[in-house]
Amino acid sequence: MLKVSRQPDGRPEIFHSIQGEGVYAGKPTVFLRLALCNLACVWCDTKYTWDWEHHDQQREVVAASSDEVEEGIRRYVCRSLVVTGGEPLVQQRALAPLLERLKDGGFWIEVETNGTIVPGKKLIDFVDHWSVSPKLENSGNPGPARENPDAYRLFRDLTSAHFKYVLEKADDLPELRAVTHRYEIPPDKVILMPQAQDRDTLLDRSRWLVDICKSEGYLFSTRLQVLLWDNRRGV
Ligand code: SF4
Repeated sequence: MLKVSRQPDGRPEIFHSIQGEGVYAGKPTVFLRLALCNLACVWCDTKYTWDWEHHDQQREVVAASSDEVEEGIRRYVCRSLVVTGGEPLVQQRALAPLLERLKDGGFWIEVETNGTIVPGKKLIDFVDHWSVSPKLENSGNPGPARENPDAYRLFRDLTSAHFKYVLEKADDLPELRAVTHRYEIPPDKVILMPQAQDRDTLLDRSRWLVDICKSEGYLFSTRLQVLLWDNRRGV
């Protein structure tokens, strides 16, 4: 069984939209939002998937079989899937058979992860793109929790992975430089994205972030879901 974020009507959170972030921003896709996370970012915009001090787990999570989830995904004509969370790799054992079936059925699959859990070999074979978003100090997670060297090295060596960092202020840059240097990640495998949950903050922070990308050779990503829908859930 998979623990999936639960929609108000009680069904698993599966919806058709466009990817809002990263190298595939703008791609029409079906989203599957899994529950649970191994980190606790202070600015997390999906706390309803893991923060049981402030959210009711009974109301926010539904246990669903692979068949049920697959049926929900195949309801749409789209054959592109983004698995998001929470942190999907917390449930990688239950996830692998589902992704195998979808891959066999012709799906293109992207997985969003915080980059702290090493994915198994099987899962790597089914995933077309890894959107790896390691957390910096601004996330409020302690260093050892947010940085797993084995996972960093594995994703660095996968051609199917990009690293996407959320920056809040220019002061985050030395930490970003240090960590990408430590793991020898080339700038064109690094995407910078502003931390923002509303349009004004997003645009404000995008301006200085674009300047950093121009001078250092990193890629820039906006957050279309904030620009278009102000971060509303399930769109
Ligand atoms: S890793 Fe992602 S889902 Fe988990 S707390 Fe951080 S932002 Fe939220």
